[in-house]
Amino acid sequence: MKSFEWVQPETVADAVAALGQPGAMPLAGGVDLLDRMKERLESPSRLVSLRRLPGLDAIQVDASGARIGANVTLARLAADPALRRAHPILAEAAGHAATPQLRAMATLGGNLAQRPRCWYYRSEAFACRKKGGVACFALDGDSSLHAIFGNKVCAATHPSTVATALVALGARVQIAGKRAREVELASFFVAPEADVSREVDLQPGELITGVAVPAAPPGLRAAYTKQVAKQSFDWPLVDVAVALVMDGRTCRQATIVLGAVAPTPRRATEAERALAGAAVDVIAAGRAARAAIAGATPLPGNDHKVPILEVVVARTILAAVAGSQP
Ligand SMILES: Cc1cc2nc3c(=O)[nH]c(=O)nc-3n(C[C@H](O)[C@H](O)[C@H](O)COP(=O)(O)OP(=O)(O)OC[C@H]3O[C@@H](n4cnc5c(N)ncnc54)[C@H](O)[C@@H]3O)c2cc1C
Repeated sequence: MKSFEWVQPETVADAVAALGQPGAMPLAGGVDLLDRMKERLESPSRLVSLRRLPGLDAIQVDASGARIGANVTLARLAADPALRRAHPILAEAAGHAATPQLRAMATLGGNLAQRPRCWYYRSEAFACRKKGGVACFALDGDSSLHAIFGNKVCAATHPSTVATALVALGARVQIAGKRAREVELASFFVAPEADVSREVDLQPGELITGVAVPAAPPGLRAAYTKQVAKQSFDWPLVDVAVALVMDGRTCRQATIVLGAVAPTPRRATEAERALAGAAVDVIAAGRAARAAIAGATPLPGNDHKVPILEVVVARTILAAVAGSQP
């Protein structure tokens, strides 16, 4: 591993200044970045530790919503009593990510900014488009865990399952840099067609300071499902978050987010339209699930993900209405 400078700023302003140097990278829990350094995908000249930045480990929940600092670990996201009451699907998504040990280290900011788990991207033997090459090796290779939507330029799926729940809850991401800004989390993710070299809209020198989640509107019913091939510490085949604003049995507004099926968390807008104004029962959930898979472009190795997605969408809608977890 190439040697690097270690910087441990005590304020956000100092962290932004330290990140201004070319080759500097922020380090939070290190679960992803240290792996990438060991895999020789990354060789930063300076690591800027974010762990001492004041206030970034805070969780505040009140009538207007939740504000979660970027350094909050996934373990705390899953366990915080106020967050669990306010946004149970967020706790559900965080609590099912990775393993207990990894969740104790992994932070919210690092989770949202982590790089994809595509095995071609992660291997130094493959110069894929993300690394400046001219090919996506998954298109003709082993694509069993890859994208079934938006996969023409790069078929890597978005790795954050926490993002699936946060996008469904209408979260916004707070960013420090030369200019502080806040953007909708849904538009924070960058599709490969726009820029295949990155997954998030962060400029050099910027860092995530937190995430704001609006208070749940009256009548909100939500559920989250992570469908895995084995019971523990597995990445999802698909994950789905559903947030329905209900008036009795009728759905007034639906938000359905599909994870692990595209290079960014994907809003299933046709499925949302199919539910809005409808009484939500098995037939309506099935109709919405069919709409969610419409337009899928599976690769030769991953067409199994399409029917799995359809079933998981229908089940998650029904679980949301029933007020249970699938
Ligand atoms: C076996 C295994 C299973 C896993 N399963 C899941 C899963 O099911 N769901 C899931 O979501 N994740 C999963 N993960 C991924 C894991 O959750 C992430 O790697 C972790 O959340 C990254 O957080 P971190 O704090 O360690 O980030 P780091 O490794 O420190 O950083 C990750 C990246 O984000 C950047 N970064 C860090 N903090 C900030 C910030 N505040 N602002 C801007 N950039 C920042 C870093 O520069 C780096 O590029 C799994 C990982 C493993 C090893």
